[in-house]
Amino acid sequence: MIKNKTIALIAHDARKSDMIEWVIFNAKTLLNNHLICTGTTGGLIEKALEDYVRDGYESNVTKMLSGPMGGDAQIAAMVVEGKIDLCVFLIDDLTANPHEADIQMLLRQCRLHNIPVACNRHSADLMLTSSLWGTKYEPSEPTYHKFKR
Ligand code: PGA
Repeated sequence: MIKNKTIALIAHDARKSDMIEWVIFNAKTLLNNHLICTGTTGGLIEKALEDYVRDGYESNVTKMLSGPMGGDAQIAAMVVEGKIDLCVFLIDDLTANPHEADIQMLLRQCRLHNIPVACNRHSADLMLTSSLWGTKYEPSEPTYHKFKR
């Protein structure tokens, strides 16, 4: 089970209801981890977890700036610094975003630094519940050798 990890959670406006449903579905798992969120997403997630906090669970949510104001960029920097273990990024693929450059930067840094990144709920469920969490599994570093034909 994933435990004591740092999980980045970001959802664009049209995907925020999906994110909240996903958080509630996985609440007991997520509560064992530190959640790093963009500002608005984080506020909604804190609210969604209130019932669990009332029941005695501890919630650990850190809110960065809102995505369009640099929150994605802040989380990308944490990925570069090795501070993020998993990223769930529910992107609105039907709307143009003013901060497209930051979105692509975050996705690129996750790929580059071998950080699992889920952009839909099915991937997020599979990644969150991987049996590799908590084992001695060490992800192998990506190689960038040119492939010779
Ligand atoms: P928000 O940012 O959670 O502050 O809305 C998400 C985003 O647009 O990247």
